[in-house]
Amino acid sequence: MNQSSSMEKNELLNRARRYLRQQLEMGFEHSYRMPSRESTELIDQQAQSSDRQMETLYHQIKGCTRCPLGNSRTKFVFGEGSPQADLVFIGEAPGRQEDLQGRPFVGPAGQLLTKMLAAIDLKREEVFIGNILKCRPPRNRDPLPQEVECCEPHLQAQLSILRPAIICALGRIAAQTLLRTKSPLGRLRGDIHLYGDIPLVATYHPAALLRNQHLKRGAWEDLLLLRRELDRLTAA
Ligand code: SF4
Repeated sequence: MNQSSSMEKNELLNRARRYLRQQLEMGFEHSYRMPSRESTELIDQQAQSSDRQMETLYHQIKGCTRCPLGNSRTKFVFGEGSPQADLVFIGEAPGRQEDLQGRPFVGPAGQLLTKMLAAIDLKREEVFIGNILKCRPPRNRDPLPQEVECCEPHLQAQLSILRPAIICALGRIAAQTLLRTKSPLGRLRGDIHLYGDIPLVATYHPAALLRNQHLKRGAWEDLLLLRRELDRLTAA
């Protein structure tokens, strides 16, 4: 280690010690108890278990033809991200790029979603990103009720493995479908809803933000709400 990095390390250690001392003086000693080896092992086992379960589910459903979209798709789009994610983003269905690549939210809308995550201090690998439908509807038309009915059990199976703290529905179709409502997105934004027993926040689809710059301010407010709720729900 060179001299400057050694000094930086010492400075960081000193800052951490000062911070811990202040917290202890304020009576927060419980926050800094080291996890026991048993609890660390348990967390590792749970993480490995959800990795395996997601992989098993993928292999179970990747050849799905429960609705006609299974015959017209190029690639099945399972979704991607961390199997331990506390936050899950759900859009409506794969588009052209997603259908070609077999990955959710790629292309310009996906790049914007990555930037939206960065704005609230998150990386794509830390969350899970998927769609209600796993196959692309022709010409990107809205999902049909029968397609949602066929495909939603796959999403529910994913969520029962992920057990996220919160869901963010991306766009009107995703929000209305998950919440079983016809209310406009404008009325669904800004509140905490429930999908089953999982809290859900609705915001604009990134593709809509690319088309309408004036929606960005509202999207930022939604992201702040999402971040606040995520922090509150995951505070141990
Ligand atoms: S959209 Fe869903 S239900 Fe329909 S074929 Fe694809 S995976 Fe199966």
